[in-house]
Amino acid sequence: MSYDVICFDCDSTLSRVEGIDELARRNGLFEQVAALTDAAMNGELALEDVYANRLDLIKPDKAAIDWLAELYIAEMVEGVSETIKTLQANNKLIHIISGGLRQAILPLAEQLGIPDEHVHAVDVLFDDDGNYQDFARHSPLAVSGGKARICRRLRMHHSSLVMIGDGKTDLEAKLAGAYMIGFGGVVRRPLVEEQADSYVSDTSLAAVLPLVL
Ligand SMILES: [Mg+2]
Repeated sequence: MSYDVICFDCDSTLSRVEGIDELARRNGLFEQVAALTDAAMNGELALEDVYANRLDLIKPDKAAIDWLAELYIAEMVEGVSETIKTLQANNKLIHIISGGLRQAILPLAEQLGIPDEHVHAVDVLFDDDGNYQDFARHSPLAVSGGKARICRRLRMHHSSLVMIGDGKTDLEAKLAGAYMIGFGGVVRRPLVEEQADSYVSDTSLAAVLPLVL
């Protein structure tokens, strides 16, 4: 089956790192932030509450976001450049749909030749001196169900869409009629392996190519 639009998650899919966890580690807050993430995964806290709590703790300034942007590129998953180039050569539209921080993802997207308007993620707001002010609290990607909303919007203009990602939120794409490919090359999650339409556990992202072209 061939698809018009190929959507990728970022953290643990295009890049080996989990951006918000790395920002927390940089500030000595890893354990606190990881505890919040766990609480959300266990259903004890809503994703929307955890999102705010984590960023209120970390308060990433512009320097932290630039640092993370470099880390995303340095830790790019094997086969990513080749995969994106091959898809572009086959006239596929590529989008990134991430619950991560948008300004940190844009340089990676730019390096891959993916336009800014195809990067769906959560904006960070800075003051004039580059200090952290807030994040885009209205962003659908900071709440549960957000990835499905973005996929639904894309599907209004394109007939077939595939979502490739490692996590539980990437499975939401199925609710929007997308074909979901689980990627276990960085983190293997049994729930995703079980519920994805296809699952790839190769360390190279290029292993998804035969499934989408
Ligand atoms: Mg991910």
